[in-house]
Amino acid sequence: MENTKLPAKLKAEIIENGEIQKQFGLPKTEFGPLKVVRIFDPGTNQAWAFVVIDNLKRGPSLGGTRMAPDISVLEVYGLASAMTFKNAAARLPIGGGKSGIFGDPVYYRENPEEKKRLITMFAEAIWPVKDYIPGPDMGTDEQDMQLIYDTFTGLNGAPNHGRGGVGRPPANGGLPLDEWGLTAHGLYAAAKTAQEYEPGFSIKGSRIIIQGFGNVGCPIAEKLSADGAIIVGASDINAGLFNPGGLDIEELARIRKEKGGLSRYHGKAEIMFTGKELPSLMNLPCDILVPAARPNVITAANADSIRAKIILQGANNPVDKATESWLQEKKGIACMTDFIVNAGGVIACAAELRMDKDMPYAEEVREEDGLGRAFLEKLVYQTVSDNVREIYSRLKSEKDKKLTWRDMAMALAKDRLK
Ligand code: NAD
Repeated sequence: MENTKLPAKLKAEIIENGEIQKQFGLPKTEFGPLKVVRIFDPGTNQAWAFVVIDNLKRGPSLGGTRMAPDISVLEVYGLASAMTFKNAAARLPIGGGKSGIFGDPVYYRENPEEKKRLITMFAEAIWPVKDYIPGPDMGTDEQDMQLIYDTFTGLNGAPNHGRGGVGRPPANGGLPLDEWGLTAHGLYAAAKTAQEYEPGFSIKGSRIIIQGFGNVGCPIAEKLSADGAIIVGASDINAGLFNPGGLDIEELARIRKEKGGLSRYHGKAEIMFTGKELPSLMNLPCDILVPAARPNVITAANADSIRAKIILQGANNPVDKATESWLQEKKGIACMTDFIVNAGGVIACAAELRMDKDMPYAEEVREEDGLGRAFLEKLVYQTVSDNVREIYSRLKSEKDKKLTWRDMAMALAKDRLK
């Protein structure tokens, strides 16, 4: 959708039961989806956003608010469904949901007042949708979550409403999961734990390619690099860089938020991909490929070209299921499942949600460093590494059945959804 003039108001329409399949063609599974909420301009009937509430078995649904110009109900549903399994696998008292706002984050970064207006209208429209709690995702940040929280406070008449947004700035009682790199911390825990199980794999000296050098991609590069890994490739929407001797990640971290992003890189790089060639970065040799941008970037079309040993799934749904099985069976690539390894952010969101209503818990979280970062890093590390160990041990005990990482991750999540 093009950025069009903002409407005066947005409204929510809840679509349930068979209408979900009829109107949007979404699949129906034993877990969901339960509701699709269409957020529209009552003046023109134009849709501006969608919320998908997938499953409420473990509690109200929690999942990020994505902003992208080409977001679709199908993409939001895929992400909501992943949240159902992610939240269950991490034993969080929340269900699976997600939302998507049509909009170009680059345009709104340059027009912050318009973004504020859009986020406020979105919050007002979803306030009656009591079983969805928004957090940050691609295209939204902690300031947007604060705005949603404040809008809810206004509508509620008081703070501590337990409705989110979560992932707010620490000065306002939030846990800034992106600033603290908490999702990356979970990916790091997964990579550390994989050293115990993947034959011959060690982070030290391993070659890493990061597709999507954003709030997840940048800190995982920094963490792995600090342990002796070599970041040979990195990309953002502007450029993909490859240097077998390693990229200068300090420079990448510095330029990633500037206009032009990684295309401004001046350090040594043997190859720079741009435009349609961007995905080719993922075909270059490495030990760990970290997709950390959009869904379905590895499919049957490019699977044969992938030369990684491990795919550490920072993004949600970066590889389609059939391709994952093929990669594991035919090429021996371990696809470490998104909803197990990238749960760090939502673990922090769930903690913040509880802190909003439970003061003794908030004090416990902040006890060590006054902010909660140390507590959260330990919690994320422990949760992700325990789940990774559990999956490897299930895979080992059923090794004759040719099951995949995802098969085991799903089995674990389903056990916790019962
Ligand atoms: P972000 O917006 O900070 O970063 C995304 C990066 O991907 C940007 O650098 C962008 O330029 C780049 N990008 C977009 N399209 C690309 C393309 N075609 N090729 C290469 N690069 C491209 O977002 P983020 O918060 O880092 O999230 C990244 C992914 O991780 C998303 O799929 C998100 O759902 C998932 N995720 C994020 C969190 C979190 O805590 N932030 C938690 C779980 C999962």
